[in-house]
Amino acid sequence: MLEKLCPDCQANSILELNLEELKKVGIRGVIFDLDNTLVEWKKDILDPEVVVLIERFKAEGFKICILSNALEHRVEAVARALDVPYVSRAAKPRKLPFRKALELLATLPEETAVVGDQLFTDILGGNRMELYTIWTPPLSTTEFLSTKAVRKLERLVIKRFRKKGILK
Ligand SMILES: [Mg+2]
Repeated sequence: MLEKLCPDCQANSILELNLEELKKVGIRGVIFDLDNTLVEWKKDILDPEVVVLIERFKAEGFKICILSNALEHRVEAVARALDVPYVSRAAKPRKLPFRKALELLATLPEETAVVGDQLFTDILGGNRMELYTIWTPPLSTTEFLSTKAVRKLERLVIKRFRKKGILK
């Protein structure tokens, strides 16, 4: 169980993602989580640097999509602004929404990365699908009460991973 929560790698922010490194490990498609990964929770204001990053990904030939448990109108607004396809109300870590995302990207699991801030949804779901999982710390500390409860557990797991030297 615990190993399924462990990301393949981590970045301090999505702005620190290394496109060349991703290419080196064979990645052609990237699935981004929305809340607290691309934008702050429940805020639909995109940081201009994030817009530039997504444009860079596209220019380098990567396929991009957004996979979020949030409601359609919010996910759609950001997806439209970035001009990328999306899956909303995803119920991650279920496998089905990840399969839908792979269909949108038209990439194989082994050539697809998932980037997200939650071990119990983004990383667990990505690992179950055998994607390349990248964890980025949440952009803000505001979120659902239910998410906050899971976060407590998540902190314990992160602490354990850090102790083992798996995470920085
Ligand atoms: Mg999130």
